[in-house]
This record gives sequence, structure tokens and C-alpha cells, in this order.
Amino acid sequence: MINFQYCRATDVADAILLLTDHPGAKLIAGGTNLIDLMKENVEQPSRLIDISRLPLRKVAETADGGLRIGALVPNSDLGYHPLVEQRYPLLASAILAGASAQLRNMATVGGNLMQRTRCAYFYDTATPCNKRSPGSGCSAIDGLNRNHAILGTSASCIATNPSDMSVALAALGALVHIAGPSGERTMALTDFHRLPDDTPHVDTNLGTGEIITGIELPPRGFAHNYSYLKVRDRLSYAFALVSVAAALELDGNAIREARVALGGVAHKPWRSLEAETALRGQAATEDHFSRAAHLLLEGARTCSHNGFKIELARRAIVRTLTQAASATPQSQAHKKIA
Ligand SMILES: Cc1cc2nc3c(=O)[nH]c(=O)nc-3n(C[C@H](O)[C@H](O)[C@H](O)COP(=O)(O)OP(=O)(O)OC[C@H]3O[C@@H](n4cnc5c(N)ncnc54)[C@H](O)[C@@H]3O)c2cc1C
Ligand code: SF4
Repeated sequence: MINFQYCRATDVADAILLLTDHPGAKLIAGGTNLIDLMKENVEQPSRLIDISRLPLRKVAETADGGLRIGALVPNSDLGYHPLVEQRYPLLASAILAGASAQLRNMATVGGNLMQRTRCAYFYDTATPCNKRSPGSGCSAIDGLNRNHAILGTSASCIATNPSDMSVALAALGALVHIAGPSGERTMALTDFHRLPDDTPHVDTNLGTGEIITGIELPPRGFAHNYSYLKVRDRLSYAFALVSVAAALELDGNAIREARVALGGVAHKPWRSLEAETALRGQAATEDHFSRAAHLLLEGARTCSHNGFKIELARRAIVRTLTQAASATPQSQAHKKIA
């Protein structure tokens, strides 16, 4: 048996203090990822800091017309929130494409951003894994790597980030609100997750003792022309092989603004400013979408089992942009609770 201390934070400052004064401490929110990792002996926190009762459950409008979402808002509440459904349906769609109803009820916004990779070797403590045990090697590079990354990989790790929500947040230009021992700060969601480089055990740019307090969405919601397409082995309860969040603003058939982010292909949600720039000012046609796909996938490197992802991603990008342009988003209607 592995013993650990359990404590419940009374407020954000208390959580930061409990985290800072105990190097082996971990926050627990919904517990849907951390508890699994503890059961598999992948994570062995010596102190669990329960933050589930902190007052971080609000969804509120910001002065500039955006939305501030508390870190403890459950994924299901956010996916069905009227303001999110009306103004940021891309986010609602990505959330509802993830996990199961029961998991979405427990999973929180902060926990979703912080969830760890689903690389099977990471979960299997009998195998080398640089993310779990730095310096031990990577079993996936010469192993079963069908689900693994094709962009931004390193010689140390080819894992993907599994979060659906983060892909939509990246496309929407969300900010992450963070509090820590040196005060509060914000960071663009696109800067929050890291590429593996030679430190794959560090997933994010969150510093020691820091806690996510919320997410902020800018006013621009792309509510008319958007789509989130998740390609996976089963219709539900599976992580993405490839996912695409596409958001457009159109002037007739001309693209005024374009955002495209990919999931399932890299250690972080993958955006390419070149691809988005190439779309701006162009007609919303398959040719231009194909060109954007080419730019997004530039530099892709595959391993023995995941070569199919390049063509899958290319087609998924074109299809998602087409759905966004024609305002026929990939439906998550079957996830609706009557
Ligand atoms: C069977 C299964 C299927 C799933 N399918 C999908 C899917 O298809 N798509 C998808 O996106 N997700 C999927 N998930 C993952 C699920 O969304 C995550 O487990 C969940 O979002 C994590 O949230 P949580 O609140 O439970 O986090 P926890 O398990 O409580 O915590 C996870 C990590 O986040 C840290 N943390 C939590 N809150 C904060 C905070 N505020 N600040 C800093 N650190 C924090 C914890 O310390 C821990 O390291 C699936 C999970 C399971 C078990
Ligand atoms: S891909 Fe990353 S997480 Fe998977 S075995 Fe290699 S180092 Fe570990």
C-alpha cells in the first residue's frame, strides 16, 4: 500500500501554500485522471490537495464581451451552458465529443487541461517511458505507435495530448488564468502545453506551486461558421486519432478570419499561423482548404504505425473547414440529454 496525506484546500491561497510547502503534493479536482494514474502507480503523490470545493465554478461574462470560466466548472455544465452553446458552440461541440456523460459530469476545466497523455506505455510501469521515468527511454518510438504524434515530436517522446477541449480553446484564442506563489498571471492556451523536446515529463508551462483558476474566452466566438470533427476508432468513449477545430468568419464566400487547430497529432493542440494567414482573404473553396491542410501538416514525421495520420488529418482538415464554411457543423446532437 502507498500512503498519502489528504487535505482539503479552503481557498486558492491555501491550495497554493499546501502545494508549495510539500514537493510531492498534487491537486485533485474531479479525480477522473489522477485516480486512474495512482491506481496504476504512474503517479504517487505523497499529499493530495482536494480543490473541488474552491469557489471556481462560475461562468461569467467579462467586461469586453468575452467569458470567464472557473477552473472547477464541470465539463458537462460547460458543454451545455447557454452562453457557451450560443456564443462558443465550437467549444461545446469539442467538450461533448470527449469521454462519456458520467466522466464529463466529474471532469473539470482545469483537470481537462492538465490530463496526461494516453500513450499506453506511459500507463505500463513495466516499460521504459521518458515521460513517466525521465531518462529511461521511449517504448513507443520503436513500438506500437498507431495513436502517436506526427508533429512536434522529439527523440525523447512522441506522445499526443488527449484533450478535446484544449483543441477548441486553442482555435478560439483562449487565455489560461493562473495563480501561484508570485501572484496571478495569464497565458495564451497555445503557450500552455509544451512540446516534448528532451523534457517530456513536463507537460505544461505551469510553474511550481501554481494552480489554474480559470479560462477566458475572447469576445469573438465564431458561432456561425465552426465545426469540431473528431476521428476515432469508435463513435464514443475513445480518444481522437485526429481531431480538427475549425472556425471561420466569412464575408459572402470570402474568408475574413480563419482558425484551425488539430488534436491527436502532437504533444499540444497544433495551430499554424501560416495556414491561417493563407486562408484569410481567400474564397472558401476546397483548393484553399487543401493548401491550409498542407501548411498545417508541414514537417510531419511518422513512425512505423502512424503514417496513415497524415492523409487522415489532411482529409479531416478539408472536411471540417468545408463544414464550417457551409455552417453545417459536425453534430453532437446525440449527446444531448432531453
Ligand atoms: C475512460 C475515459 C475516457 C476519456 N475520454 C476523453 C476524451 O475523449 N476526450 C478528453 O478530452 N478527455 C477524455 N477523458 C479525460 C477526462 O476528460 C479527464 O480525465 C478530465 O478532464 C480530468 O479532469 P479532472 O477534474 O477529473 O482532473 P483530475 O483527475 O482531478 O486531475 C488531473 C490532473 O490535473 C491537475 N489539476 C486538476 N485541476 C487543476 C487546477 N485547477 N490547476 C492545476 N492543476 C490541476 C491534477 O493535479 C492532476 O494532475 C477521458 C477519461 C477517461 C477516464
Ligand atoms: S511516447 Fe512519450 S509517453 Fe509514450 S513511451 Fe514514449 S516517452 Fe513515454
